Amino acid sequence: MGQLPLVFDAPARGRAPKHWLDLDEDERRGAMEAFGLPRFRADQISRHVFDHLSDEVSTWTDLPSSIRDDLAAQLFPSLLDQVRQQTADRGRTVKTLWRLHDGSLLESVLMRYPNRSTLCISSQAGCGMACPFCATGQGGLKRNLSRAEILVQALAANQMLTSGLVPGTTSRLNNIVFMGMGEPLANYKAVLGAIRTLVAPVPAGFGMSARGITVSTVGLVPQIARLTDEGLPVTLAVSLHAPDDDLRNEIVPVNNRWPVAEVVDAAWEYARVTRRRVSIEYALMRDINDSVERAQLLADVLRRRGDWGWAHVNLIPLNPTPGSRWTASRPEDEAAFLATLERRGVPVTLRDTRGSEIDGACGQLAARENLTT
Ligand code: SAH
Repeated sequence: MGQLPLVFDAPARGRAPKHWLDLDEDERRGAMEAFGLPRFRADQISRHVFDHLSDEVSTWTDLPSSIRDDLAAQLFPSLLDQVRQQTADRGRTVKTLWRLHDGSLLESVLMRYPNRSTLCISSQAGCGMACPFCATGQGGLKRNLSRAEILVQALAANQMLTSGLVPGTTSRLNNIVFMGMGEPLANYKAVLGAIRTLVAPVPAGFGMSARGITVSTVGLVPQIARLTDEGLPVTLAVSLHAPDDDLRNEIVPVNNRWPVAEVVDAAWEYARVTRRRVSIEYALMRDINDSVERAQLLADVLRRRGDWGWAHVNLIPLNPTPGSRWTASRPEDEAAFLATLERRGVPVTLRDTRGSEIDGACGQLAARENLTT
């Protein structure tokens, strides 16, 4: 057995400065008292942030000017510095590279579809899961993001959308997927705190539907069980990528700790308790995991847990990372894999590769930048 990846919460090295977005409603009111302000000011501030999507404290003229500077300095430090922005798909895919206060880099990708928009966000700077086909996994874990650093990605995307920067819409974000950098369930507390703020009704939070939020995991079984008990109907995605332990031990190293059977059981339990269909992520890698035999085995593994309907397989064409031996499946193998699952009645879709030409697709985020810095 190889060296195990770092699974539990990373040390607080380089911890982000405290921000309003780190706080829940009670803590916001407490913070007002610490400033010598009445508690109702907390709601006023929240309205600026979540209703008007503003974090420019200097423009909040309904607050006494004497406190605006202090408030800005102590609770609204700048968390993200925009380094670069790239667009694709005629402006409808926007990838932003951000620098955090300690120099860590992260990216988020905004994708606009006809009736909705989706933001792919990061939960950690780097990742400790060491999946060999994933560019982020190669660089290791730098640190966990704070709750505010996660939320401010959503705030920035909403600002982008409502300002009309993305063609065809001025409406807010509908979906968020934790499929950027990092393993969200290894930064459990901050991710859950962020989700609670995303779903809290305006003006306490962004007022999003929990169903529109997808948490994607390599399969940290105890944390999946913990998420099952939260009573939050978020969508769970499990990055399975192989139906057998021999192969999965290699391509998703955390499988050495929690094997396929335990991961699928935890996913099934999530579906049973939350009544939310689990998404099974399967990146098709040429001559690695794309045989018809493995498609059959995948169908068997999922079927064993219960009738269809609890899981949906999401096939992802692998995005080759520079210098890696992993590459995308041949079109005929991809088609045969898909057809095998369909024949067995497995709900399955082939994911689009939006943004791949700007390295905006899965596992590519910030990798190129890290290679050159
Ligand atoms: N750590 C989490 C979320 C981040 S990655 C997880 O593993 O689920 C989001 C998805 O992109 C995962 O399914 C991951 O396996 C996949 N992915 C990573 N690198 C990829 C690549 N090069 N091509 C296609 N998908 C990739």
